[in-house]
Amino acid sequence: MTPGPAPRAPHGLGTGNDQTRRHNLSAVLTTLHHDGDHTRAHLTRRLGLNRSTISALVGELVDLGLAYETAATAHAGVGRPSPHVHPDPSVGVIAVNPDTDAVTIGLVGLGGTVHRRMRVETATVPTVAETVALVERVIADWTATAIATTPVRIVGVGVAVPGLVRTESGVVTMAPHLGWRDAPVAAPLGAALGLPVAVTNDAHAGAIAESLYGAARGVRDLVYLNGSSGGIGGGVLVGGLPLRGARGFGAELGHTRAPGATIVCHCGRTGCLETEVSLDRLLAVLGRTSIDLDELDAALTGHATDPSVRHEVERQLDVLSSVLSDYVSVFEPERIVLGGFLGSLIAGGADTLLDRVRAGAFAPLADDLTITRAQLRSRLLLVGAAELAFAPLLADPAGVAKSGPTLQVPSTNSDPGPANSDSAVWASDTSPSSAR
Ligand SMILES: [Zn+2]
Repeated sequence: MTPGPAPRAPHGLGTGNDQTRRHNLSAVLTTLHHDGDHTRAHLTRRLGLNRSTISALVGELVDLGLAYETAATAHAGVGRPSPHVHPDPSVGVIAVNPDTDAVTIGLVGLGGTVHRRMRVETATVPTVAETVALVERVIADWTATAIATTPVRIVGVGVAVPGLVRTESGVVTMAPHLGWRDAPVAAPLGAALGLPVAVTNDAHAGAIAESLYGAARGVRDLVYLNGSSGGIGGGVLVGGLPLRGARGFGAELGHTRAPGATIVCHCGRTGCLETEVSLDRLLAVLGRTSIDLDELDAALTGHATDPSVRHEVERQLDVLSSVLSDYVSVFEPERIVLGGFLGSLIAGGADTLLDRVRAGAFAPLADDLTITRAQLRSRLLLVGAAELAFAPLLADPAGVAKSGPTLQVPSTNSDPGPANSDSAVWASDTSPSSAR
């Protein structure tokens, strides 16, 4: 899928033919999903359609269970108050993010609402089969646990993988930290859940999520870096479109090289960014082996006076600034967004890093640059993976809602924050066959 502005309905087109109606229905649902609730009047202006067309399209989305309306609020403007139209968060997708030490599973509703999040720590790096079994078990647990009265109708699954992904076939070509090579992921997960599955690179998912819902809303030239236990991934938007490369493997920014570095990377080259700026090296000075990234800020703050921790954070910021200043020459981004553990490196403020990047950059190119932390935090990759899974529904709301396979999962009552999301540990001797 491609991030960017919501599809706009052509001006002046009515509901005369089915193709136009489907296009317009897609434009309305996509606008609601990405930008939240609108009044009918605002939708009319935004999409360039007339009032009766919007009224019919909204009515159809409500009938399909994809949107709902609330009463108009009084206003001082001209004309009648207009009802509010909302994306219905009780339609959702399952989002999955396998990493070296855990698999995180989310239930994400229309509008980007994360209903549930479960991070399951694994004793060993999860295989594809273990990931599939674990997702199956978590969803079975969720389905059996009626937490709230409103179930979520699941229309698909999105998976964000730290590696090179052939999105069209759902095959992971290479995920070095997971040890997955030429591994079909969409097929076995789809067979287990009976739902369509889409797979993407984790950093591409993060860039999409931040550009739609987070720190890069409206930014058309973006460099996004995601740091996880699996390394550093990159996502780049150029003029609002993702930089894909010839086979979709582009923007592997973790494997651009840092000056003076001497460590051999798993990719076989020496001095890659992700060998120098790494979560493992932060954890080593913190005396930890694993961490939920939501806890990393607190861990770094708690050790703020520890000289070895301060030295390591400063060293990583120095390396990062040097590499980022080169990205400024290549991409001339409007904004650089840092996610995952890289966000924790600038938790105290991004100004110091920006100053260093400007000092190292070809001067005029960084004049208007901003650097900021990703906003979606632990929800980032779930929302990004979910976006891929929502794509068929957004493209053809009526077709998918009427005929697509669905699964009912109870939601929690509200968007879980880091404090009340779930976590669990999957014992290494739990075989996939006994996981349910
Ligand atoms: Zn490398």
